[in-house]
Order: sequence, then structure tokens, then C-alpha cells
Amino acid sequence: MKQTANKRQLAKLIQQVERLAPADKPLNIMEVCGAHTMAIGKSGLRQLLPDNIRLLSGPGCPVCVTHDCEIEVYLELARQRNVIIATFGDLLRVPGKKGSSLADARGQGAKVSVVYSTMDALKVAKNNPGKEVVFLGAGFETTAPTVAMSVIQAQEEGIENFSVYSLHKLVPPVLEALLLDKEVKIDGFILPGHVSTIIGVEPYYFLAREYHKAGVITGFETHDILQGLVMLLEQIREDKPCVEIQYRRGVLPQGAPLARQVMARVFEPADAWWRGLGLIPKSGLRIRESFRNYDAKKKFNIPEPYPNEKEESNKNCACGDILKGIKLPQECRLFGIACTPLNPVGPCMVSSEGACAAYYRFTEYG
Ligand code: SF4
Repeated sequence: MKQTANKRQLAKLIQQVERLAPADKPLNIMEVCGAHTMAIGKSGLRQLLPDNIRLLSGPGCPVCVTHDCEIEVYLELARQRNVIIATFGDLLRVPGKKGSSLADARGQGAKVSVVYSTMDALKVAKNNPGKEVVFLGAGFETTAPTVAMSVIQAQEEGIENFSVYSLHKLVPPVLEALLLDKEVKIDGFILPGHVSTIIGVEPYYFLAREYHKAGVITGFETHDILQGLVMLLEQIREDKPCVEIQYRRGVLPQGAPLARQVMARVFEPADAWWRGLGLIPKSGLRIRESFRNYDAKKKFNIPEPYPNEKEESNKNCACGDILKGIKLPQECRLFGIACTPLNPVGPCMVSSEGACAAYYRFTEYG
């Protein structure tokens, strides 16, 4: 099938989904990636699929999974007089435990520079030699190689006032954490297309081998998602789960080994805090000792953050449960009332890839 499909082809794929959907039980299919959540919302697929196919949004929006305790740390950094925080725009409005965000800090005098690439962040450092520029590195395996490149370039060019606060996270460990969580019920995964361009197919094999779960690496067009669903439903119907690639025009089975090499030169796996999921072993990336001068946590002597449960952010925000696929956005009591994209309470409403934002924009609940 071409990159785009016509209405007839889409209707045929929907019929295939209807035919393969089991009549006797509902299936929970998780779209892991925030970009899939938005694509599904935009296409109206949720409303077109049979009722017993439940599409659940997962922990694949980097802003949404950033834990409150990390947000408080970088807000503290932003308030230091000699620091400029460089960040992608998505993190700007995410509130921390006490309700304030980088945008609020900027309003109170903090220096926050919104950049469009890691190389822009390096430029900010070059243009401000008297300041320390801290880039907030949030994202998955897709963005980590470019952040690693910026660190290597900073070292090669002797830019000493640049560092990275790594919030990077890894997809396979969080999928395993979900499957180990007794509350979570997932029959199959629509696996992220972009992350998989880097990591390839092998890191997902454990899903079928150890947990008997279906998985399909899927592209972002409507027909990609429908084809991915058909492949998942066939695996489930035949009770032969495996990991397949639907998104062949974007993903090679071996991924991108060179990008992984760059990533591994600068970063190493480390335990990381996830919103809603807590501390997951080896699910994040920290900067290696050989690049310690570019690690904001070392440069500013930041202790490993540890969440103080007594200071939890808004307890009514259900982002944590939504990221695990336990709740749908409209099941949050604040959705569309106290929490809207203009007045977001939690990160799932702030982020352009957040499940709550997608449901608000594209469903009848918004
Ligand atoms: Fe949190 Fe708002 Fe989503 Fe509720 S609607 S879960 S408060 S982001």
C-alpha cells in the first residue's frame, strides 16, 4: 500500500479489523507512543473501531512521563542566577508538585530559552559565555542520539558552559514494567515507529517470548495504524504472539546502529523515575563519567531526586493511571472542567502528544 490510502482501502482495513475482533471478549491494545495517540485522535479511529477493541494510550509521551520530583529539580536550577535553561517548548508549561512551571519561573525572572534543536542550545551557550546553559534532555531513544551529539560537539569545541540535565527514558523497560503491574491489562502493543528506527526489533522480542504479548511496530498514517491493528489481531486470534514490523518504510530490523553507538558513547542506562509508574530499573539514561563536565547533575551537585509522597502534586490528576492504560482521560474528574489545554492541571493535557490533550481535541468528551 502507498504512503497514503484512499477511503475504499481504509474501509476495507476497518472491515478486516471488525472480522478479526473477537466477539466474546474485549481486547486492550496499547498505543505506546504519543504521536500514535495524536494520529489516532485526529483520524477519529477510536469511534470507527468495534466496541470491543479498546485503544489505550501508553507511557510514550516524554513530557507526560517526566516525574514531579525531576520537574522540581530543574525548576530549582532555573532559579539560579547564572543559569539559562534551554528546553523544547513542550516542557515549558508542565507544572511541578507545587503547581508552578518553567513558564511561571520565567515570569518571575528565570532565564529560559526555548530551542528547536540541541544545536540551538549549544549556540545559546556560545552566545552567553558568562552563564551556565543547561539543556533539558527529555525524550526516548529517538532524541537521545542528537543530545549525545551535542555533548560530543561541546567537548570537541571546548564549550565549557554547556551541560545536559538528562530526563531521557527507554521504551522496552517501561513496557516490561507495565506487564509486571497487576493492575494493567494489555493484550497487544502498537509499538512506536520513531523509537524503533533507532532500536530496531530485537529489544521487543521479550514481549512475546516472556509475556506472550503481541506487538507490531507501526507507522503513523491512518492506514498504517489499521494495518498494524490487523496484524496484531491476527497474532492474537492465532495465539501466536510475536513482534512484527508494519512500518517497513521507516524501520529496519536492525534499527540504526550508528545512532546507538553515539548514544552509548555519551549515555549509560540508569534507574529512572516515571510518572505513575515510579522507579523503573535501567529505564533511563545518565551521562557517562567520561563526559561528567557536561552532566548538569554533577556540575550542580544535584542529588538523585527522591519523590516525597507527602508533597504529591494534584491528587485528582489521573495522568499516572492514564499512562498505564488503567483509566481513559474522560474518567478523570477534572477533564474538560478544571483541566483544559488553556488551563492544564497535568502534563497529559499540556503536551501536544498527551492523551488528555488528544481526547480533548478530537473526541466528543472534549
Ligand atoms: Fe491530569 Fe488534566 Fe488529564 Fe485529569 S484531565 S488526568 S487533571 S491532565
